[in-house]
Amino acid sequence: MTDLLVVGGGPAGLATALAAHRAGLSVEVLDRRPGVVDKACGEGLMPGGLARLQALGIDPDGHALTGIDYVTPAGRRARASFSAPGRGVRRTVLHAAMREAVLSAGIPLRHRRLDPVRELDVRADHVRLDGVSHRWVVGADGLHSRVRELVAVGRARVVTRPPLAARPRRYGLRAHLRVAPWTSQVEVHFGQGVEAYLTPVAADQLGVALLSSRRAPFADQLTRLGDLGRWFAAQPATQWGPVAGAGPLWQTVSRRVDGPVLLVGDAAGYVDALTGEGVSLALVQATALVECLVTDRPGDWERRWTRLTAAHRIATGGLVAAVSTAPTRAALLGAATTWPAAFQRVVGALAEA
Ligand SMILES: Cc1cc2nc3c(=O)[nH]c(=O)nc-3n(C[C@H](O)[C@H](O)[C@H](O)COP(=O)(O)OP(=O)(O)OC[C@H]3O[C@@H](n4cnc5c(N)ncnc54)[C@H](O)[C@@H]3O)c2cc1C
Repeated sequence: MTDLLVVGGGPAGLATALAAHRAGLSVEVLDRRPGVVDKACGEGLMPGGLARLQALGIDPDGHALTGIDYVTPAGRRARASFSAPGRGVRRTVLHAAMREAVLSAGIPLRHRRLDPVRELDVRADHVRLDGVSHRWVVGADGLHSRVRELVAVGRARVVTRPPLAARPRRYGLRAHLRVAPWTSQVEVHFGQGVEAYLTPVAADQLGVALLSSRRAPFADQLTRLGDLGRWFAAQPATQWGPVAGAGPLWQTVSRRVDGPVLLVGDAAGYVDALTGEGVSLALVQATALVECLVTDRPGDWERRWTRLTAAHRIATGGLVAAVSTAPTRAALLGAATTWPAAFQRVVGALAEA
C-alpha cells in the first residue's frame, strides 16, 4: 500500500508529489507522456507562483517579469508593476526543473497512459491499480481530466458542465518567436475578438499566446491584431516555433473529492488563462491538498479549494465577461487606462497572492 498515487505529472501533479513526499507520505506519479512535456501555456510565472516554486527548491531559468501592460487597439497603455519579480519560463524548462526535483527526491515517476475509469478500482477507503493499493488517488490530469469522471461515477449530477450556456467557450493558442524581447512586462494586446499575451521567456525568445472564443488558426487570429498582428505575420516562418493549443478553457466542476479520489490543478476546475495564474494556483493547491491528506481529513479539500480559488474565480470570470463584447471590453480598457492605481491594485492582488 502506498499513500498516494498522482495521475498527471504537470505542475499540479509534481508539486503535489513533492509536498506529499516532504510531509512523509509515500507517493508515485504517472504521466501519459514520457520525459519533458511541452504544453500550450502563456509561460508567465506570477510573483506569488515563483515564490512558491522557489520554496519547493525549484528555480528555473527564464526572463524576469516586472509587471503587466494592457495595450488598447489605439495603442494606449495601462501599466501595473509587480512589487516582487515574476518570471517568464519556457514550459519545457519549468517541467524539466520540476521533474528533476521529483526524481532527485526518489519519487517514482512512471510513463503510463492510464485510463482511470477502466483501470482504477475505487473502494471506500483506497484505490487499487494492478493489484497495488493506494490510500488516495489525486487526479492532476489537466483541463480534460479523466479522473474527474471517477468522481462522477454513480452520481446523478454530471461533474463537468458548461458554466452558463451564454458564456463564451474560449480557446488558447501559443507559439514562440525568436526575437529579443523589447520589454520585461507581460504585454496584453487587445484586438478584434482576440487577446495576445506577449511574455519574454529568454533573452532571444518571446512567447505569444492568443486567447479567443473563435476557433481559428494562429495566422488567422493574427490578422485581428492590427499593426502588431501585421508585424508578427511579416516575421519569417523560420523564426517561429510550433503552435500548440488548448480548450475550451472554462471547466466547471461540481465536486473535487469522492472518498479516496481527489482533484487538483486544472482538473479541479478552471476559468481562463487571461490572468496567467494557472501554475501559481496549481502550486498553492498542491500544498493545501497535502495538508488535508496528512491530517487525514481529505473531505476538507472541497472547502479549502473553494476558499483558495474564490478571488481568482470571481476576478477571472468578471474579466472574461468584460472582454467578451466590444462595449464592455472598451469600458474595461478605459477604466484601466483612466485609473492606473486601481489597475495596479487588481493586478497586484491577483499576481502576488
Ligand atoms: C493558452 C494558455 C495560456 C496560459 N498561460 C498561463 C500563464 O501565463 N501562466 C500560468 O501560470 N498559467 C497559464 N496557463 C494555465 C496553465 O498552463 C495551467 O493552469 C497549468 O498547466 C495547470 O497544470 P496542471 O498540472 O493542472 O495541468 P497540465 O499542465 O495540463 O498537466 C496535466 C498532466 O497530466 C497528464 N495526463 C493527462 N491525462 C493523463 C492520463 N490519462 N494518464 C496519465 N497522465 C495524464 C498530461 O500528460 C500532463 O502532463 C495557460 C493556459 C493556456 C491554455
